[in-house]
Amino acid sequence: MISSKEHTILISPIGDPGAGADFLDPLRSALRGAFGYETEVIPLIDEEDLWIDPIRKQYHSTPILETLAILAPPTALKVLAITKVDLFIPILTHVYGEAQLGGKTCILSTHRFGEGLSQGAGAETFQYRIEKEAIHELGHTFNLRHCPDLTCIMHYCRNVREVDRKLNRFCRYCAILLEDELKKLGK
Ligand SMILES: [Zn+2]
Ligand SMILES: [Zn+2]
Repeated sequence: MISSKEHTILISPIGDPGAGADFLDPLRSALRGAFGYETEVIPLIDEEDLWIDPIRKQYHSTPILETLAILAPPTALKVLAITKVDLFIPILTHVYGEAQLGGKTCILSTHRFGEGLSQGAGAETFQYRIEKEAIHELGHTFNLRHCPDLTCIMHYCRNVREVDRKLNRFCRYCAILLEDELKKLGK
């Protein structure tokens, strides 16, 4: 008998991922809706174990993805780590997240999602930013690339205004590509 825990999307908070992590339950439903997999929440890495670049005072996301891939339990089809620390890759000043294209792991930072929001009043926008960028990064692990459609969730956003402008859905083209990927996985 196949366990109900077979093939989950594992959400892995690193320390307190921000905002008291109130966003986790709605995020789990959003991910289930987008990809059709159940989710589990299991921390795999401590914030103290992350390596901070001493010059940039930021965290390089690529080695974190590699560590997550090693630590991921076999039940996890994909792993989404969420952290409040500021992430970068060497060619960019910062990133909201990074993913292994067609791979197992991705990471999202909530660090910059409070930009332009007033305390309290922006909770819903903060939530939507996390959901959109989490689905975006997981989309990459399902082999989706960046999409030129400004409203598609796979559009690459350079700032939060662009994140707010895009919709919480895949465009028709990306939806078909995702469906094909999910079919290959037996969905
Ligand atoms: Zn992307
Ligand atoms: Zn698209």
